[in-house]
Amino acid sequence: MHGTMPMTCPACDESADAGLRGLAEVWDVGLSFLRCDQCKALRLPPMRQIKASVETDIQKGDSRVMDALFQLRWRWLTAQLPMLRDRSVRILDMGCGDGQFLVFLRHQGYAKVMGLEPESARRANAVQRGVAVVAEMDELPAGRFDVIFLWHVLEHVNAPLAFLGALRTKLAPGGTIIVSIPNQGGGQPRLFGRYASFLDYGRHVWYWDSVLITVLRAHWRKDRVEFLRGRNFEYEIFGWVDTLAGGMTRSANFVHSRLKKNIPGVGGRMAALVLSGLLLPMAWILSLIVPPSQGGVLTFTLTPQEERISDRSGGSA
Ligand SMILES: [Zn+2]
Repeated sequence: MHGTMPMTCPACDESADAGLRGLAEVWDVGLSFLRCDQCKALRLPPMRQIKASVETDIQKGDSRVMDALFQLRWRWLTAQLPMLRDRSVRILDMGCGDGQFLVFLRHQGYAKVMGLEPESARRANAVQRGVAVVAEMDELPAGRFDVIFLWHVLEHVNAPLAFLGALRTKLAPGGTIIVSIPNQGGGQPRLFGRYASFLDYGRHVWYWDSVLITVLRAHWRKDRVEFLRGRNFEYEIFGWVDTLAGGMTRSANFVHSRLKKNIPGVGGRMAALVLSGLLLPMAWILSLIVPPSQGGVLTFTLTPQEERISDRSGGSA
């Protein structure tokens, strides 16, 4: 047993004495995790992480692949979240990386967008794209944002509850946090183990399934925590393409790393394109027939409820 093992679980209740006990071997990913007795979250201790950072995305221009994928994401989001039809909403993209999603949002007509990115090289890319980006949570104004996106960020954070708690204070009244995480309980890891897209075994601290939603509901009883309905075809179709290609080539993230990331080599990119084209029909069918709870990612909203309307009667909002 290692001396630095935490006594409480940062993913469920920090005041509980549940702790993180035991090692769990999961599918065929070849890693041992700590599993919380209480919330069942899988945690990879930092000393066993392979590499915590994420490679920078393709920089030259804007990738057509990414733009097409963003379009799919946006169609789904605006259908599920009516508040996004108002182009004046204030949006924060946490972990905005190289800023492509923020640029995409601006092209959709949203002017009040901002990002946070802790890695300086990626932040510099975002600044070069002309979007406003800060490095730390403290730099964000309190009570400001109507929508905060967390696209595959929470699984990288050491103390997710504390992190979400801090983010809640950045929300304007009526605002919502949209959290998207890889689904450890999904069909892709079940069938393809270490080649499952999005899970990035070894790079994330946390590996959750839908239990996380139950935990958050218990932690913030007055908030609404709800699955976002419908299918995010961006993530589901691309996820299946990447997973199937990974399984075939025995190389995790085969397509993702070549089409979306800055991995050099025209040959590799061509191979990924051809393979994606061949796998696309099957990926499309799989993403339609697999139920959302078994999907590659889980996306949900966390919306604090306003205490009393009368509290705002004296203010000017
Ligand atoms: Zn826990």
